[in-house]
Amino acid sequence: MTKWVYSFGNGKAEGRADMKNLLGGKGANLAEMSNLGLPVPPGFSITTEVCTTFYANNRKYPPELEGQVAAALKKVEEITGRKFGDAKAPLLVSVRSGARASMPGMMDTVLNLGLNDSTVEGLAVETGDPRFAYDSYRRFIQMYGDVVLGIDHHHFEEILEQHKSDCGVSLDTELTAENLKALVAAYKKKVKDELGRDFPADVHGQMWGAIGAVFGSWMNQRAITYRRLHGIPEDWGTAVNVQAMVFGNMGDDCATGVAFTRDPSTGENIFYGEYLVNAQGEDVVAGIRTPQHLTIKGKLANKSKLPAMEETLPDVFKQLDAIRGRLEAHYRDMQDIEFTVQRNKLYMLQTRTGKRTAAAALKIATDMVHEGLIDEAEAVKRIDPAALDQLLHPTLDPKAPRDLLARGLPASPGAASGTVVFSADEAEAMAEKGQHVILVRVETSPEDIHGMHAARGILTTRGGMTSHAAVVARGMGRPCVSGAGEIRIDYQGKTMTVRNKTIRAGEQLTIDGGTGEVFAGEVPTVQPELSGDFAELMGWADKYRKIGVWTNAETPLDARTAKRFGAEGIGLCRTEHMFFDPQRIIAVREMIMAEDREGRSKALAKLLPMQRQDFVELFRIMDGLPVTIRLLDPPLHEFLPHAQSELEEIARISGRDLASVKARAARLHEVNPMLGHRGCRLAVTYPEIYEMQARAIFEAAIAVKKETGKAVVPEVMIPLITGRAELRLMQKLVEAVAKAVREETKAEFEYRLGTMIELPRAALRAAEIAEIAEFFSFGTNDLTQTCYGLSRDDAGNFLDEYEKKKLIPRDPFVSIDEDGVGELMKIATERGRSTKPELKLGICGEHGGDPASVRFCAMIGLDYVSCSPYRVPIARLAAAQAALQAPAGATAPIGKRRPARPSDDHHRRVLIAAGRRSAASRISGGIAHARPLPGARSAAVAKAAGPKPKKAAPKPKKAASRKKTGGKGPKRTSGKSSRGGKKR
Ligand code: ADP
Ligand code: MG
Ligand code: MG
Repeated sequence: MTKWVYSFGNGKAEGRADMKNLLGGKGANLAEMSNLGLPVPPGFSITTEVCTTFYANNRKYPPELEGQVAAALKKVEEITGRKFGDAKAPLLVSVRSGARASMPGMMDTVLNLGLNDSTVEGLAVETGDPRFAYDSYRRFIQMYGDVVLGIDHHHFEEILEQHKSDCGVSLDTELTAENLKALVAAYKKKVKDELGRDFPADVHGQMWGAIGAVFGSWMNQRAITYRRLHGIPEDWGTAVNVQAMVFGNMGDDCATGVAFTRDPSTGENIFYGEYLVNAQGEDVVAGIRTPQHLTIKGKLANKSKLPAMEETLPDVFKQLDAIRGRLEAHYRDMQDIEFTVQRNKLYMLQTRTGKRTAAAALKIATDMVHEGLIDEAEAVKRIDPAALDQLLHPTLDPKAPRDLLARGLPASPGAASGTVVFSADEAEAMAEKGQHVILVRVETSPEDIHGMHAARGILTTRGGMTSHAAVVARGMGRPCVSGAGEIRIDYQGKTMTVRNKTIRAGEQLTIDGGTGEVFAGEVPTVQPELSGDFAELMGWADKYRKIGVWTNAETPLDARTAKRFGAEGIGLCRTEHMFFDPQRIIAVREMIMAEDREGRSKALAKLLPMQRQDFVELFRIMDGLPVTIRLLDPPLHEFLPHAQSELEEIARISGRDLASVKARAARLHEVNPMLGHRGCRLAVTYPEIYEMQARAIFEAAIAVKKETGKAVVPEVMIPLITGRAELRLMQKLVEAVAKAVREETKAEFEYRLGTMIELPRAALRAAEIAEIAEFFSFGTNDLTQTCYGLSRDDAGNFLDEYEKKKLIPRDPFVSIDEDGVGELMKIATERGRSTKPELKLGICGEHGGDPASVRFCAMIGLDYVSCSPYRVPIARLAAAQAALQAPAGATAPIGKRRPARPSDDHHRRVLIAAGRRSAASRISGGIAHARPLPGARSAAVAKAAGPKPKKAAPKPKKAASRKKTGGKGPKRTSGKSSRGGKKR
């Protein structure tokens, strides 16, 4: 017979912590705590399998369930010495939902179940406290009425308020037993009026009603939405926990509270919690009174005037503190606990792994290694690489007050404050004067690059996580909030408006790109700490990882930053970025517009020294580490002159007439630039460009060797190869330049020639390409575009719908599409290495910094990943985790995709938001609770916390916000081009 019910209590349990799938998180840990001998009120868990069976069988319970519940209830009665429904010593229970992952959207807990007109009298006599008995009764009717019978709680609250005013009191606690009796009668009448039947008096009927409500809530809209947003499968089901009540509301020697075994915001090893005297669980949640701190230290730190539990209930506090230690030693992680004190006796009601900020996660993990609780590998595994991002950028000072204006997507991490400007030109002009500016746009395009560069932070009202603003900002390391759809921008009037609040150009604004929040005014920030815990953990990560981590960098700043973050080389230096400089673009245009080789050579001669100097600087900074230089790649049209003045300038410089310049520009126009005249195709028609670049590279290598005495071995990378023939031509071209430079300078140098693999044909022909190439670098941005036949810049209009309809598991431009693009990578890897076993393989697309993609790259046996500077630590950690998880043999077949870790992100975001609120409310603001706890209701905090997280917070609508703007400046915006996102 299937076991549907698992008992716990009296120092033992049938379940264990590792039975979360069956018992839910709450049930499994209640069992575990019972087994540990901790004081847990007895009870039982009805398994998640009951839930799935219930739905598989037309909402019918398995037939054995009733008997098993009765038996388990009997055990609870025996342990407590009380009887369910008994008129003398009635057993009361709570009915608590509990899925595997904590899930807002599920039924709320019902307390005090088992009360009716007869048991309430028994309770009154037994405790000698009719006030307590009737207070519990009215709470029960209200809670049960609301969550089980579906009578909105405001009905009850209105009645309560009416009674209070009739009795002339302002606090619930001032109502007498008689008042409460009358209140109960009024509540019951309300139930009858609403439902047309009496409030259930039969205690078994009450219990089954509550159990049914929990299972029913698994399929309510809120839960379904939450599951969809967090990738929780429907067939997980929820468990139900029925547990003997203990009472925190029996007087001043009673209390209820929540705590973290360490500070969830900072990670500091201090006991961090709050409690309420003479209260029940739901009071803490409802925020009726201001909670008190557990510890004297906490009280002082938060300037609370109310006494700490350490003072009011010193013995109980000592027990709780001891349990804190036992739980940490047992679970070897920070715990989030709920407890109740009944007449000076402590009861544990919940424990779970506590959510925490990235900073806290880092500190807790390293501290726990030092404390001997966990080993280094475990510490490395515990940190979410994506969350590291928060630590590498300035963050908002957690203590600073703030005024939340709106929310968008956390597009690029870091916090920044500055003066609001609405155009890139203004941003640049003001930044030149030394001002900090926040660039606010509906969306950005490549024309805004200079303004984005000049700005401290970027805010857009449209666009998703892969919008131009998001991608470019991440590449630049600028904080960015994208798609803040509530904000209306008026470019003419130079204002932005959210609801009825207007901010003008020139006013201060703060954005937090790690959370997506936008604040009015200036919120002070704190600088990241890259030494200490961070450095230690990264050191451990480096011990485990097997794959190299390089960076994509072309500016000295990026190269330096990346090196500081631990980059082991440059995997992609995009030389076109070096051409966009205002002084150079003229020479570049002159070159393109030239009608013949001679004209081009003349213009290129102007660029050579500048380009050489670029490489000299990079070689110097990288100091012997590999530097991979990709020769010019973007479509020609990105350099074409458009404005009349630009055309005239070219005509003047090259001494030609305007008409011929215009005609040339028209000839160079392309219908589909992404698939047009770019990459090595440019060098097939205009070899002088690559010749100049190769020369600049070699001369720079010679110069730096002279300077430092150390040989520089540049890696020359040819873009957009489709097969051997093209690469052969490029090889000859580069070799000829090398030979010429060697002869001219009489200097010896070496270099390596390799290619991007960014077209499906190249991946398929890898075996013969490897005859020439010494390395491959997967350009997964273009490989994704060409594999899918999908332009990244246009995909935003419909990819959301694909994700929603589950046609794709996730945006393939964010995380490698392992089945398609990944397959091409595997093919290229195998075929390339079959020709040349020592072939060096890397990846340089955006994916190089995505943890899941890093794991994939490690798995298929790449030598390194290359990512933007700020992603280097993330990749190092992700690579270490890949190594720690990987089955033996790095090229094991690619398994099933890991299901997205469901609610962690959501929780993390809430936690961070909470951590940045006033310390007093921090713990209560929904860190681990579905609803705000006390203190979270103060106006300021409620504002900072945003909408109550009780209902699964829906993700901002990306689909709607990604639509194109329409009037977006002149046509030369190469946001239309495939690589707009990568330019700066
Ligand atoms: P949630 O999942 O929202 O945290 P819980 O099931 O943990 O809901 O219940 C919320 C609160 O109700 C608990 O923190 C506790 O204070 C109170 N509670 C639950 N069960 C009991 C019980 N058996 N005795 C006393 N209080 C309880
Ligand atoms: Mg709940
Ligand atoms: Mg709880």
